Parts: sequence; C-alpha cells; structure tokens
Amino acid sequence: MNLIKSITDITEKCISCGFCESVCPTLVPGDNNSVFGARGRVILADFAVKNNSDDLELADSFYSCLDCYACVNVCPAGVNAGVVSELMKEFIVSKEQDKKNPIAELIKTAIMEYENPLGLKKESASWASGIEFNESSTYILTGHMYQMMPYTREINKIRKYIDENIIKNMAIALKKHISLIKFAGHFYDKSLKEKMENDLRNIIFLLKKSGVKFGYLGSEEPYPGMFLYDLGYIEEFREYAKRVYGYMAEKRIKKIIAIDPHTYDLLKNIYPKYVSGYNIDVIYYTDLLDLKYNKFEQSITVQEPCHMLLHDNNFNAMNILNSVAEVKLPSRNGKFTMCCGGPDELLFPEIAKKASKQRYMDLKKSADNIVTICPLCYNNLAYDKNVHDFSEFVVKLAKK
Ligand code: SF4
Ligand code: SF4
Repeated sequence: MNLIKSITDITEKCISCGFCESVCPTLVPGDNNSVFGARGRVILADFAVKNNSDDLELADSFYSCLDCYACVNVCPAGVNAGVVSELMKEFIVSKEQDKKNPIAELIKTAIMEYENPLGLKKESASWASGIEFNESSTYILTGHMYQMMPYTREINKIRKYIDENIIKNMAIALKKHISLIKFAGHFYDKSLKEKMENDLRNIIFLLKKSGVKFGYLGSEEPYPGMFLYDLGYIEEFREYAKRVYGYMAEKRIKKIIAIDPHTYDLLKNIYPKYVSGYNIDVIYYTDLLDLKYNKFEQSITVQEPCHMLLHDNNFNAMNILNSVAEVKLPSRNGKFTMCCGGPDELLFPEIAKKASKQRYMDLKKSADNIVTICPLCYNNLAYDKNVHDFSEFVVKLAKK
C-alpha cells in the first residue's frame, strides 16, 4: 500500500480527544510540548503527509516516539501513534539525503557495513570466551543488547559536554570515514560492562541448569538490525534481514533463544513480514527455565517490558517472579506498563533520562527492589543497587 495512504488511514480516525497524552511517556519529559506526545504526533503526521511537508525539523516528534504502543490501549478510535511514528520515519527516510538525521544515517551505514551499530561485532562476543556451547545444536542464543549498553552509556556521558550541532557534524564526518566508528570500542562504562557480561553468563548458567542445549555464533553473529527498523530504514532493513536470515539458514539454525525483548519482538514478529520463507522459531529464554527456587524474603516490583506486554508477546518470567517473591506491581502494569525511555537514548538522551526517572519513581512507590526483564530497562532504571536484572535476581535464588 502507498505509504501516505497507510499513514492517513490511521491519522484520519483520530478525534483529537487527547486520552493518549495521559499515558505517553515522552510528553512530560519533552517539556509538555505536544509534538512530543502521542496526539501531537498523529496531528503532525496528518498535516505533514497531506502537505508533502519536507520541514523535517518536525522529524524529532517521530524519532522521539518510543514505539511502546501505550497510546493505542487508551484510544477510543484505536489509533496507534507508535505505528504512525514508525511510518513517518519511513516517510522521512524517503526524503532527500541532506534532510535526514545524521546520527541515524551514521548508525545505518555502520550496520550495513559491519553488521553492528558501532562496528563492534568482535567485541560483542568477547564475554563468551571460555564458555562451552553445543556447537552441533540447531538452537542458538542471540542478542547484542546486553553487550551494547556499556558503550551507549559512556558515549552519552561524553555527549552531555558537547553541543548537539557539533555532534551532528561529527556524525556527518564519521559517516564519510565509517571505519573510524570502531574507535567507539575504546569508550565503555567498565563497571556496566562487567555487570552486563555477568548477566549474560547468568543466562547461560540458568539455561544449562534447565537442561537446554544450544550454540552461540560468537563473533560471526550478525546484529539483527533493530536500529534500521526503528529508525525507518525499511528498504535497508528488508535487505539486511534477508542477509541475516541467509546466514542463519546456511548454519541450519532452526530455533533462536532471544535474551532481550527487542530482539525477540523483531525476530519473532517483524522478520516474517519482510523475509519470505522465514521459518525460525523464536523463544524467550525465560520460557525455557525449569528450575526450583528459594524464596526471596522481601517484596519486589517489576518493570514489565513494553516490547513484550504492549506488543502482544507472551513470556513466562512473571510466573517465576510470582513464585519466588511477593510482587507488588506499580499502578501502570500489565497491558498498561510504561516504557523506561530507553529507546530514546541514542537520539534524545535528555528525554530518555527524564522518562526513566519518572518510571523509576513510580516503581519505587511499590517496592524497594525492582526487577527488570530487559537490559535496556536495567540500564535506564539502575539508579540504585536494588535494581536487578531478572537473570541476576533469579540466579541467586536457583536451588543447587
Ligand atoms: S486517544 Fe486516539 S483519538 Fe484521542 S487524540 Fe489520541 S490518537 Fe487521537
Ligand atoms: S508509542 Fe509510546 S511514545 Fe510513541 S506516541 Fe505512543 S505512547 Fe507515546
């Protein structure tokens, strides 16, 4: 279907009631400027495509959307401002080269060239050194998100001291000399790297203890292409996803164990729409755990990931948590869970920070111990030592 028609088919249903603004996690962090809220995005999209506007200053409205889909749950007309934003990013990308977001362009170029957003494919696999996998298994473990977090956190720390225009100019220069992006490998948060690598090893421990046999592609494993999709590079994503699938098919992979919600959602729900003949089963690692646990004596609260709950994915982690501790959920839970703001880290670190603080405060009202089931949520919510990744929390309770 024509892209403009796809957008207006949704935007024209909007009755401008504003209910979606009450749940949109970017509105308040965007200083209550309506273009950073769900209703504003829908109205702006309708205006932009009908006037074939190339005033791409407006693009920030769509790039800052977290694609969490909280808005559609409260919309009486069934409008999903997240989907509108996804389509608008595709619309923006189809415009002239010099109007595109330079940071998004840089990341796209690095993925197409190096199969990793920062050109760090080899570094992404170093955590697994010394671990034995079942090389003959058609089951593989996948995901790059735990590995990327220490780099994005450090880069964002540095960005705070540099003017945004200078950053955009640096991104333009780097894109022309793309091999220099690998320099990012020197910048990472050391303690977070240690923590993320421990969590990856915790996941391996839990799966092996549950009797699951699986392989790992190591430094050959391609990044699945999430940023291409999230930033609206749909044609590039289509080509890239086919390349990734071709590689998996060559390795005779039949099942994938995803270890973060974003990779899970992408490989399970998005790949089949863009790659013909895609026939790999995707399962979330928590669904494979079959263990006995000791009780955790305090109550906990849980950050339920929006890419699971609001994108209609089921997973078993909540059953495990309910069996080991008293779970006190925050007011926004289940189908109304709230995004941690993490997807904005790359392009809108200030909005991401404010959105995460708002969610952290909300969770803290329910219990002191927060368990997250997503490395991105962990990275954004870990304001104190009582925020735990699911793997780290559960590994301590697993019976010997
Ligand atoms: S809730 Fe739905 S109908 Fe109301 S403003 Fe938001 S998108 Fe429009
Ligand atoms: S998908 Fe999330 S961030 Fe985007 S408009 Fe809807 S509620 Fe707001």
